[in-house]
Amino acid sequence: MENSHLHFNTSIGIKKPENIRNKQQACPFCERDQLTDLIAVDGPIILLKNKYPVLENAYQTVLIETDDCHGELSTYPKEHLHRLIRFGIKHWLDLEETGRYRSVIFFKNHGPLSGGTLAHPHMQIIGLDDIDYKERDSHEMFNGIVIAEKDSVRFTLSTKPRVGFYEFNIEMEDSSYQEGFSEYLQIAVHYILNHFPFKATSYNLFFHHIDNKIYAKVVSRFVTTPLYIGYGIPQVPNNLEWMAEEVKRIYY
Ligand SMILES: [Zn+2]
Repeated sequence: MENSHLHFNTSIGIKKPENIRNKQQACPFCERDQLTDLIAVDGPIILLKNKYPVLENAYQTVLIETDDCHGELSTYPKEHLHRLIRFGIKHWLDLEETGRYRSVIFFKNHGPLSGGTLAHPHMQIIGLDDIDYKERDSHEMFNGIVIAEKDSVRFTLSTKPRVGFYEFNIEMEDSSYQEGFSEYLQIAVHYILNHFPFKATSYNLFFHHIDNKIYAKVVSRFVTTPLYIGYGIPQVPNNLEWMAEEVKRIYY
């Protein structure tokens, strides 16, 4: 029970730059020659230690996706998309492999309702000393209506969403990188930002490594439902079949 919560350091939190709402604030990720504690670099892609490690008992890193402050995952050319996701998955699994952490999380926030603070496209890889996220995971969380499938890669719309409403899942084996994985990921994000039936500005991307599977969950973000906040009850909308067909119609 004692390891059920991640502790947030408010004195660091208060110093953290924020420019999603306050556009005046300069972008720290654009000043590339000022960046310190670099871990790995691949062209415009940089992995570095987080300068504002707000989480206690955690090793926090930031993955800067591109040198274009206004870039976005849904519009990256294929070459950059694969370079980025390959790089991210490699460093995430490498950190997991060290065995230094109970578990390692890899995720992305985008937009004002995502919980993110900086607009410049980035992801985070965080080693947790005391918490194993996998204890809360099951393969079932990533089941859903199949939108597309090729080789061993599968793209679904959740029928058992974790928090509620629309969650896209992409899965592949952890033995080798499959381009289809990132291509489905990009379609999910593009659909949310451009074709969603409700105007969506925000999403999160969460990677999970369970047994020999790698999953990505793409979650469109709106105001969280009170039933989830108050009682932990996720809600499932009654138009999932329609949405799955709609994604197929637009992209295939
Ligand atoms: Zn920037």
